[in-house]
Order: sequence, then C-alpha cells, then structure tokens
Amino acid sequence: MDVSTHIEAVQAEVRRRNPGEAEFHQAVTEVLSSLGPALERHPEYVRGAVVDRLCEPERQVVFRVPWVDDAGVVRVNRGFRIEFNSALGPYKGGLRFHPSVNLGIVKFLGFEQIFKNALTGMGIGGGKGGSDFDPRGRSEGEVMRFCQSFMSELYRHIGERTDVPAGDIGVGGREIGYLFGQYKRLANRFEAGVLTGKPVAWGGSHARTEATGYGTVVFAQEMLAARGTGFEGRRVVVSGSGNVALYAIEKVHALGGRVIACSDSSGYVVDEDGIDLALLKEIKEVRRERLSVYAERKPAARFSARGTLYDVPCEVALPCATQNEIRREDAVALAKNGVLAVVEGANMPCTPEAVEVLREAGVLFGPGKAANAGGVATSALEMQQNAARDRWTFEQTEDRLAAVMRDVHAECRRTAEEYAGTPDDYVLGANIAGFLRVADAMQAQG
Ligand code: GLU
Repeated sequence: MDVSTHIEAVQAEVRRRNPGEAEFHQAVTEVLSSLGPALERHPEYVRGAVVDRLCEPERQVVFRVPWVDDAGVVRVNRGFRIEFNSALGPYKGGLRFHPSVNLGIVKFLGFEQIFKNALTGMGIGGGKGGSDFDPRGRSEGEVMRFCQSFMSELYRHIGERTDVPAGDIGVGGREIGYLFGQYKRLANRFEAGVLTGKPVAWGGSHARTEATGYGTVVFAQEMLAARGTGFEGRRVVVSGSGNVALYAIEKVHALGGRVIACSDSSGYVVDEDGIDLALLKEIKEVRRERLSVYAERKPAARFSARGTLYDVPCEVALPCATQNEIRREDAVALAKNGVLAVVEGANMPCTPEAVEVLREAGVLFGPGKAANAGGVATSALEMQQNAARDRWTFEQTEDRLAAVMRDVHAECRRTAEEYAGTPDDYVLGANIAGFLRVADAMQAQG
C-alpha cells in the first residue's frame, strides 16, 4: 500500500471509531498530514501498523465523579484519564477541569502530548485527563470535595511509574494539593512523583509554575534568532490570562519586548505602555476577577468585550488561552498587520485554516507541541528531583528548562531540513521528530 493511501485509511478508521470527536480528528489529521516523508523512508512503520497503533489509546478510563455542593445538593460530573502511549515512559500529561471537557477533547490533548513529550527527550509517555467540572464560582470546600472524589477513582490507575498527572486549565497548585492528599490517604504512601505541579514546599519544583510561559518565549526567541532578530522593542500580544499567559508576558518583558494586549474569556485589554504584570496578577491570581477591572484601575488602557485582540497590530502573537481560538479571519488580520511570528503557548490554539493562512503569508509558526513543551519538561525535572529526593534552585531549574527548549527548537529545524528541505517548517519538523522517537520505541518493544 502506498503511503498516502495508508494515511487516509488510518484517518478514516479514526473517524469511524471515534464518531463526533471533532478536536481529536483535527489533531490526528494535523499530525498525519506531516508524516508522509517519514513513512516513505521507513516502510517498516507502515508494515508494523505503527500509525494505526498510535491513534488508538492504550487505555481509556471514564468515570463518575459524585460530590456534594455547599447547599448539600449531590452533583455528578464525568472524569477522564486517557493513557495514550507508554512507549517512552510512564503516561504523562495534565488534568483539565472545564465545562467544555469531553472524551474527544481529552483524546486530542493526549494525542498531542505523545509527540510533545517525545520531543523533550525526557522519557515520558503521553496521557491526559480531566473533567467537565466548572471550578468557576465554586467555594474552596466544593473544589476540595470534587478533587477528593475525582481522586477516589483515579488513584487506582496512576503511580510514579505508571501514569503521572499534572495541571492544565482549571487545575493549579491548590487542586494538585487536594488530589495529592487524597492519593496519599488511599494509597498509604507519600509517593511524591505521582503528581507534578506540586507546591515547592512539599515536593514541587521551582520554575514549574512559570515553565510553560517561559518556555514558549524561549522557543519564540530561538525562532526569531534564526531570522537574525529578537524580542527587543517588539510589539507582542498574548491571549489568555492564566498561568501560561502571565509568565509568557513576564519573559517577553525581561527580553525587552512589550506586551500591549492580553485577554480572558470576557474580552481583551490594550495597554500601549505595556501590560502591568503586577496589576494583572493581582486581578487574575489573587482576586480572580474579570479583565475589565484592569482598565478601571489603569485608565490609559482600553478594555473591549467585543472583537478580538488579534486586530491589534503586533509583530509577535503568543496564543496562550485554549484550542481553536485563532480562526482564519484572525490569521488574516495578523498577517495583514505584518506579524513576524505566531507561537503557540496553548494546545492547538490555531485552527488548520489559520495555520494555512499564516504559512501562505510567510509568517513563522511555532506549533504548541514544540513551543509549549516547557511545562511538561519541567514536570519531568520535578520527577527527577522527587526520585532523587533532591531540590534544585530556581536558576538551575530554569537553565535546564531553557536548554530543553533550545534542543527542541534545534531538533525541529534539523528534522524539517532533512524531511522538507527547509528548516522553517516547524510543523513538519515537530511532528516527524516526535513521531520517529515514539515509532522507534514502539517497534523495538514489539
Ligand atoms: N498541561 C501541560 C501540557 O499541556 C503540562 C502537562 C504536565 O506537566 O504533565 O503540556
């Protein structure tokens, strides 16, 4: 069978077997459409059905999460853990608590995680989990009871050598704390390496909170450097105002760039003086308020509940919110306003149509599975510290993170050059480099 027929057959099978899972189909199509040149060179992967096997999770756990709210009413949510691929190490990937979470979204994230984790070169397999629980507006006690119930089922599936969850949207240090406490109670073990993203005081790693945002900016900096330029004096927009966005903004400012706009689900704010990070952190992290408060506190800034921040002219865009936030028309606006680079801090924030527009306009594009790998890479550093009962300094950890991001960047370029004849095709470079590592291990393990 020729390679393109093989790829089409796998895609058709994925759609048949996973009906209605649009995001999962999208992620599979995105990766598979890059793999032609690798499969041409490795017919043994076609014979060994490596791609077919890769698209089917090793194990899928779907479970009921009952909990009691503050009014004494019993609520029921659905929990997921997709243990997608363990060829390179224990399943590794975050937990997302958000009302949009469903099986297809968790599978798309788990699938991406396989290649992302492979790219880090750190011996971690791919997985993802979460729940359709909405933490917004929930009290401390409700969040705790939900996390405890969630872990009451999840604990039997995870372990430091089996599956190591961490945070994602809606899951930060507080939730990891409650989840860890319940695991410890049920397993009767202080197994530090069973979860990452723990607070530094009891087994967490320095720089883990900052890692995804910092790593994305280091990756973007490498991309700009390959074009002989950098962040100095550049206008940057960053979507989102969670962990990833906040620390991306911090790093851009440290490198001499100016973030002039950011957003949350209620709208976006433009501040030509550069986003005041201390104010933004206070609003989003401490008071958990909406972004419009920023403009109330700083009248020179403008808040808009309508339109998109991608209409704000910029030279670098860092989408750090969620999947499919940059659509075709946003990409058209970015390209028209002369954007140099779009680098994904979130997972799959650009639709395929948007990526196509950027590619045709000659815009540098850094795909999330490479650009945002710093979070999970630092989780792997946390696992190393836990295994050695050691703790590194912030500087040591940040240096290791930056080195991983530079390696991932170099590997994407090297692979793109080898398989596409141009180092600038980061999409093909990331997909093939990640795929080859996993495929090799899968073949070797039979
Ligand atoms: N949720 C993050 C990601 O999308 C981090 C996962 C982890 O640290 O395991 O990569």
